[in-house]
Amino acid sequence: MPTRWYNLLADLPTAPPPPLHPGTGQPVGPEDLAPLFPADLVAQEVSTERYVDIPAEVQDVYRLWRPSPLYRAHRLEKALGTPARIYYKYEGVSPAGSHKPNTAVPQAYYNARAGVRRLTTETGAGQWGTALAFACAQFGLECEVWQVRASYDAKPYRRIMIETFGGQVHPSPSDLTEAGRAMLASDPDSPGSLGLAISEAVEVAAQDPTTCYALGSVLNHVLLHQTVIGEEALLQLAKIDETVNVIVGCTGGGSNFGGLTFPFLREKLAAGGAGPVVRAVEPASCPSLTQGTYAYDFGDVAGMTPLLKMHTLGHDFIPDPIHAGGLRYHGMSPLISHLYAEGLIEARAKTQQDCFAAGVLFARTEGIVPAPEPTHALAAAVDEALACVDTGQEKVILTALCGHGHLDLPAYDAYLRGSLVDHTWEDTELQQSVAAALSRLPAIPG
Ligand SMILES: *Cc1c(COP(=O)(O)O)cnc(C)c1O
Repeated sequence: MPTRWYNLLADLPTAPPPPLHPGTGQPVGPEDLAPLFPADLVAQEVSTERYVDIPAEVQDVYRLWRPSPLYRAHRLEKALGTPARIYYKYEGVSPAGSHKPNTAVPQAYYNARAGVRRLTTETGAGQWGTALAFACAQFGLECEVWQVRASYDAKPYRRIMIETFGGQVHPSPSDLTEAGRAMLASDPDSPGSLGLAISEAVEVAAQDPTTCYALGSVLNHVLLHQTVIGEEALLQLAKIDETVNVIVGCTGGGSNFGGLTFPFLREKLAAGGAGPVVRAVEPASCPSLTQGTYAYDFGDVAGMTPLLKMHTLGHDFIPDPIHAGGLRYHGMSPLISHLYAEGLIEARAKTQQDCFAAGVLFARTEGIVPAPEPTHALAAAVDEALACVDTGQEKVILTALCGHGHLDLPAYDAYLRGSLVDHTWEDTELQQSVAAALSRLPAIPG
């Protein structure tokens, strides 16, 4: 197991544009982040050191499931009749069933070490809340999660997992915060939104000096922690003397994709650009990289965060309720957005239909039901492998299978029963709502 995380910021040819304070238009400093995050995480957020040692206490928890397995998808290859070799790094073996504990555990550790007693966060379907509740249990922290009301009601299993790990779950809107009470006053039956849940979790953390807030994607320190995935994959591939030609990963906020690919990008930059093609895959109904604008925007719907330069569909764009809930984000990590703008990575959008077809094929061949999110990467891997059938090329394809789908079975049910609704960029309705949201991008003061 690797003992260091890798910081891509140390090796980039150009630095990404800094986050800006929405009031002044000036770059956000560590002091602006101090009320929400402990000093160690703020330091990692702005660090340009190439490597950060993984604390021994964090390594001990990682060892519950790490190193995660790297599998070759022999049976999928056979079903496709491809000469390509397909490998997948499986993060579904973690306590939460996804890659999210890779950052939840160090975040809980650094908070506990700083004397913080409670962490707050938001969760949609519940992947992040589950990971953070598990991590808090490891370091004796309380964990309070605001879960979007619609998911709280419709998808009880992850809520039950959070509570089993010792976390407390509030449906959002709740009557525990100003933001929640205001929403309940105007709409007592509000289904909630991720943006509102963020507002509630941040409000509680900002008011109590012993409480901090934790975010599960997008930020630099989150992507840093996830690089344990790519570092392991490099070591595992070296053991079998295999060199990767194409890496595909799904992108919501960019953390599993960054975690897998950054160590490979380090090698590629050091080799003067010789190395694998690196490709992000996103939902056709929420195409922030392929159709969004690269501009300063808020990270949340309510407009409370710093302004982040990122590929965005507009902070108040509400994507269709697709099953890959983890990919339903209007923006993209500033670091991933910068790599895309610099031409260091590629991007593709895929429809739900194509993704679930790949997910079902994967389940029937490899025996793992993937989470809806990584079916996007699998669909792109299948495309690449089928292209090799035509060209006869023996490409080596690597993907992150970033979670299992055992708590997402209703999504498979919808696919198998033919009731899955699909949207593509060709839909003028989607284009119009993106154009409208982009017309409301915030102005930069000063
Ligand atoms: C949260 C989540 C995602 C999306 O987040 P990223 O930061 O883009 O990785 C993707 N897959 C799974 C399984 C998730 O839980």
